[in-house]
Formats: sequence, C-alpha cells, structure tokens
Amino acid sequence: MIRRLDPGTRSKIAAGEVVARPASVAVELVENALDAGAETVEIEVDGDGTDRIRVADDGRGMAESDAALAVERHTTSKLSAADDLETVETLGFRGEALPSIAAAAARLELTTNDGGPRGTRVVVDGGGDATDGEHDKTVSPAGRARGTTVEVTGLFSDRPARKKSLASPKAEFARVSAVVTRYALTRPDVRFVLRHDGRETLATPGTDRFADALLAVYGRDAASHASTFDSSREVSAAGETATVEVDGALCHPEVTRSRRDHVHVSVNGRALAEPRLRRAVADGYGTLLPDGREPVGVVRLRLPPAWVDHNVHPAKDEVGFRDADAVAEAVESSVRDALSTADLRRSGEVAMDLDSSLAPVEAASVFDDLRVIGRFRGLYLLCEAGDELLVVDQHAAHERINYERLREAVESAGIDAVSVDPPATVSLSPTDAALLDANRDLVEKLGFRVAEFGDGSRSGSGTGTYRVEAVPAPLGRPFAPDALADVVADVAAGDDADPRDELLKDLACHPSIKAGDDLTDDDAARLVERLGSCETPYTCPHGRPTVLAIDEETFVRGFGRRSGRLG
Ligand code: ADP
Ligand code: MG
Repeated sequence: MIRRLDPGTRSKIAAGEVVARPASVAVELVENALDAGAETVEIEVDGDGTDRIRVADDGRGMAESDAALAVERHTTSKLSAADDLETVETLGFRGEALPSIAAAAARLELTTNDGGPRGTRVVVDGGGDATDGEHDKTVSPAGRARGTTVEVTGLFSDRPARKKSLASPKAEFARVSAVVTRYALTRPDVRFVLRHDGRETLATPGTDRFADALLAVYGRDAASHASTFDSSREVSAAGETATVEVDGALCHPEVTRSRRDHVHVSVNGRALAEPRLRRAVADGYGTLLPDGREPVGVVRLRLPPAWVDHNVHPAKDEVGFRDADAVAEAVESSVRDALSTADLRRSGEVAMDLDSSLAPVEAASVFDDLRVIGRFRGLYLLCEAGDELLVVDQHAAHERINYERLREAVESAGIDAVSVDPPATVSLSPTDAALLDANRDLVEKLGFRVAEFGDGSRSGSGTGTYRVEAVPAPLGRPFAPDALADVVADVAAGDDADPRDELLKDLACHPSIKAGDDLTDDDAARLVERLGSCETPYTCPHGRPTVLAIDEETFVRGFGRRSGRLG
C-alpha cells in the first residue's frame, strides 16, 4: 500500500538531487524493479539516455490506485514512519524517484500489472511536479503481464543547462552500463539485459552463480580464474556488536585492471561505487597484486540496517557506517582469508595437467635417445626424448655427477689436491672444530690439508683457528679454503647418516664445484650424457629429482587437440 509520508519524515530524508544524469534515472528504475522482486530486468537506452530510457521488470507490479500515487511526491510503499528509516531493507524509501524523474523529463510512462486481469498505464506529461498540478497525469487501463515498465523520454528537455553539462552519448551510456553492471554482478540471481540503440551490450543469465555473471561481464578468462567466498565477521561499536556477512567472488591476482572500478561492492543489496570499501577489497589482495594494478571482484556486505546510513550521499554512491573502519577491516580480512585459501594456481586445464604430469623420471632408457633442444632461465635444460619433453635441473644434475665422481675418487685413491700458497687462515666454531678433529682423516683424504694455528681448539677456548695449506680440486676445480667451514658445518647439522658420505654430498653440492650457468650447447649435451651414465641419475645426492618429464599427451589435452601430431 502506498501512502504519503508526513512532513516530519520527509524532512529527515536528505533531499538531494535525485536526477543528475541519465545513469541516475537508470539506478532508480533498476532499484525499483529489484525492490519489486523482479527476476528479470531489461534496460534500454537510446543515445545518451536523454532521448529514451526504458526499464521493464517482471516484479510484483502495482494496482491501479497505487500506480497513480507512485508518481507523486513522497509516496512510497516501503516506509510508513520516520522510525522505519533505521530498519529499511529496501533500496528505495524516499518516495521521490518517480516524481523527480517525471519532473525532469518531457514524458514518463508507467505501465504496470500486479497480476490482475488488466493492467494500468500512467502517463505524466510536460515535466513539473504532479502535486503542484504543473503537469498532466493520465491514468488508463492497459494490457500487460505482471510487472512494471517505466519509459522516460525527453530527459532534461526543458533544462538546457543540465543537458549541456552531460558528456558525450558514449560516455553517458558508459555510466549507465557501469551501474547496470554493478547490479548484474552483485545480483547474479537476477537476469539483466542492457541494450543501447537496440543493440544488446550485456546479458546475464540470472542463474545465481557469480561465475556466470562474471562470464557475461568480463569473459572467460576472468570467470575461470575466480573463487567465490562467504564469511562473517563480528564488529563492535559503542558497546554494541553486529555480524557483518561478506560474500562474493574474487578474480585471482593474475586478472587485474588499471583502475579500481572493477571492484563491485554492495551493502545490504545496494550496489555502490563506495571508494572506502573498494580500497578495503584491494587491501585484502595486498602484495598479491602487481604494482599499480587493481583487482576484479564482487563483494557483498550484509549488516543490520541500523548500522548503515544510506542517506549520506544524494546519488547513493556512498553509505555511512556506525563504524566505517571496523567494516572496512572486516572486508579486508575476509578478502585476505578468501585469497589465502583459494587455489590461486592458474586453474586452466593445461596448468592442472602440467602440474599432475610433472613426474620424476625413473626409466633408465630415457637417456638413450635424448636431445637437448633448449634452455630455460639459465637453470633448466629442455630435452626431447621420444614422446616426452624432459626438463633437467642443471645444478641438480651437476651435483649428482660430482657426487658419484667424488665417491669413486675417494674410494680408490683420494682426490686431487692443490696447495694453497700462502696458506689461508680459517676459523671454526667450537663444535665445528670438534667435528673436524673427529673426521680429520676423512677431511685430509678429501684433499684438505689443515694445521692448527696458535693455541687452536685444543687449548681450552674451543674456537679453532686453522691454517689451510691445501684444498681439494675435484675435476680440476679447486675449493675455496673457506669451504672447510661449510663442509664441517654441514656435517655438524646432518643427522646420524654416515658422516663420510655426508661430506661427499656436501662437497658435491658446494657452489665452488658447480659448473657455471653459461653452458655452451656442447657443455649441455655433455652434462646430460654424463648424467645418463651415473649409477643413480634421477636424483641429486640429497634426494631431489634431477629430471622431470612431460609427456606429449599432456599437450594434446592441454591444447584441446583430438590426437597427437596429426590432431
Ligand atoms: P521509493 O522507491 O523510494 O519508494 P519511488 O518514487 O521510486 O520511491 O517509487 C514509489 C513507489 O512506487 C514505490 O514505493 C513502489 O511502491 C512503487 N513502484 C515504483 N516502481 C515500481 C516497480 N518497478 N514495481 C512495483 N512497484 C513500483
Ligand atoms: Mg525507488
């Protein structure tokens, strides 16, 4: 039932200019449609929107008497007394949108049916205020299915200054499109269709799935790289506590835009261009976002109406909160949590497949027919081997080769050593000094020649200063004397494995004997060949894989080919 608001209530409602531009007409009409419980909202715009805006819905419609009253000032079915302002759950409540629009336009035509056998048409002509009798209002029967259509033509036709202040038709339509998009994304349960000069520019399916709405607005890439979330936070202000429910869909950080306009927020169902909340969403992404990039997502807030004041902004872009900081913090932390639990791997099928098929290679035969075809990031050798692409970790391969050679050398005759002239001075911690003491023979056999220096470890302090007179030079590459500390420290940190083997492993993995990054093609081929002749080629001395394989089938599936090379 529509009734007039008393003057006291009216004055409590911030008046503000409702109709600033075509997009504000679109917002008001769309919000009315949503308040009426529409499942489908169709918006049509001609030109910049001043020519014609038409919004049709399949909501509950109005009876004849209500329809006639709806276009008059301060008439609303949504609020009966000022008290209700605290608890209003609908998007509209001021009761001034339709009359304000009618006053700003040459003509407003409202056709509606609340489900009865016959509908109603109300036409307001000539602008002005209906209650002042400045314009004609005609009410007549009309055929229409349940729902409401409002068509506004000649907006600002008698306000040349206002009309002149508008941007180009494209820019004005873009604003309309932005507000419709905001609603389409925050209300994925409603089907939205937007047409400009007869051409459909946006259509969401109303499936109540964020992914479907994102698909319609941003396309496949964004929609397939998004995760939905649903959380709630307690906020308190002045001793009172409320629950803020936050849900929505967040595109993964690889989907970004240069502006923050693509963070779509709503508060209690009202879609808003709310800068603080948008910032809170971006803050929730934090360092996940590349510098200067903004996220894409939909974030909806629900909190008790008494905690929200929708009256702070005439165009309803911003809202007031009982504690804005607490609400922003709730949004930020909800987003952060959602992103930390979301599977942010590139979720395309190719990536998934690659991931699951990157298996360590174990068959000995792969090295028989293997060709190095390239390198990646100076770290990985790419090799073709039958129907597989092998990726060899260059450093891990070196470590394996070195380790097996060292082991062999130590087992037979020790390894080559070169003398350090003049001898280098090296300090070891008490523990390392003790460990060196216990493994002196092995260390000497590895090629180090070490002499105590001054008081050394045996004289009480425990800290040892040593003179390194010779270092191992396995495979012709001399160790730095400092490596003594590394080698001994690594042994100290090791578990109860054979310390001799541990030393060998550490020696093998020591940077000083890893080949440099600048392998020639020949070096690369030789490295892979030597790896192939190792006893255990598929792991480095510490057990990490040296080679991963991706089979051709992965690419066939990933690229959607039906079969191998011919597909
Ligand atoms: P408000 O939305 O603030 O109540 P409006 O001027 O926008 O004020 O609308 C006045 C009244 O007209 C509404 O309260 C509602 O009862 C009715 N109304 C407007 N649009 C529709 C619609 N699309 N479907 C059903 N009722 C509507
Ligand atoms: Mg309204």
